[in-house]
Amino acid sequence: MATKAKKTKTAEKKLVTASQVTWRDVEIGGILTDAGSASLRRTGDWRSERPVLDKEKCNKCGLCWLHCPDAAVEQCEDGYYEIKFYSCKGCGICAEICPKEAITMIEEVEE
Ligand code: SF4
Ligand code: SF4
Repeated sequence: MATKAKKTKTAEKKLVTASQVTWRDVEIGGILTDAGSASLRRTGDWRSERPVLDKEKCNKCGLCWLHCPDAAVEQCEDGYYEIKFYSCKGCGICAEICPKEAITMIEEVEE
């Protein structure tokens, strides 16, 4: 019986579109039940700091893209990178890892 209830809950979850998913939908304990789903989570709405990228300092190495745990860094056509604030939760890893100190974390403000 418990197994059937669990299967039903999983099926219901698949009907929710990506735009409806927020951090509140994350499993208790932060458990990820499906791989490669980071970019589908609106984890940006819990951010208290935001990364600001200075293209003048950037050497396009891609380390910020590689290390971002939320797939929030994307490469642009010109080879530079930009932050997708839909899923950027402001962890600051990109700023820490950047060898050119091109990313600065600033306090988030309400819009
Ligand atoms: S880690 Fe820094 S230098 Fe490298 S691509 Fe990202 S912003 Fe640019
Ligand atoms: S602060 Fe940087 S590393 Fe952290 S989620 Fe945002 S873009 Fe990714």
